[in-house]
Amino acid sequence: MAGVKISKALKAYGALNVLHGIDIDIADGEFVVLVGPSGCGKSTLLRMIAGLESVTGGTVSIGGKVVNNLPPKDRDIAMVFQSYALYPHKTVAENMVFALRLQKQPPDVIKQRLQAAAETLDLVPYLDRYPRQLSGGQRQRVAMGRAIVRSPQVFLFDEPLSNLDAKLRVQMRKEIKELHQRLKTTTIYVTHDQVEAMTMADKIVVMQGGNVEQIGTPLEVYDRPNNTFVATFIGSPS
Ligand code: ADP
Ligand code: MG
Repeated sequence: MAGVKISKALKAYGALNVLHGIDIDIADGEFVVLVGPSGCGKSTLLRMIAGLESVTGGTVSIGGKVVNNLPPKDRDIAMVFQSYALYPHKTVAENMVFALRLQKQPPDVIKQRLQAAAETLDLVPYLDRYPRQLSGGQRQRVAMGRAIVRSPQVFLFDEPLSNLDAKLRVQMRKEIKELHQRLKTTTIYVTHDQVEAMTMADKIVVMQGGNVEQIGTPLEVYDRPNNTFVATFIGSPS
């Protein structure tokens, strides 16, 4: 496993500065939630960690190694997005092992990792189905399956539940937390939903306008907000 350290990270798109010097230190195995209003830079930061965006300034380190110039495939991470775009013409099993095949993993390794992931996610009975034959929650689990078969050092989630209905969202929060308790993989989870942040995080990072306003446990952020923004954002109903 590996921690993630972000130091003085800057991001600009042309003349538009969207991250103004972000410092976040995430310990090995921690579940950290980045929360903040739409447009504050959460996805940009996550994509920089994944290597999908260049770093304008500062450093991103994974497992103690600066990865600013490493391509995504060489970073030991797996990302789960909101629109989990499964391949419609591939079965659940084929969807889950696609990345392993690209990596040219041996067939017995693929089979074993698929089985383990399917058991973890309760997907064993669905491996031969197609995405259209699954419920929303099952599809979301397949999307997570694609990430966990790779046994990455770090999971990155970008609002993975925002397309699900309220009831399913609550259930999936629980499943993602249980998965983390089992695998203990360092996780960075982005949401604009403060209730999701409060219920899931070991540590919350509250962002606004490209800055970090506060980092703390849910209790610290709730009980002792650093400023009016944090108090208002965390205290408001979702
Ligand atoms: P969040 O995920 O918190 O909603 P984003 O990281 O998506 O926020 O966006 C932060 C800011 O960067 C926004 O102002 C957005 O319009 C801008 N932005 C994001 N991606 C790009 C891009 N590829 N080109 C230009 N501006 C972008
Ligand atoms: Mg976003």
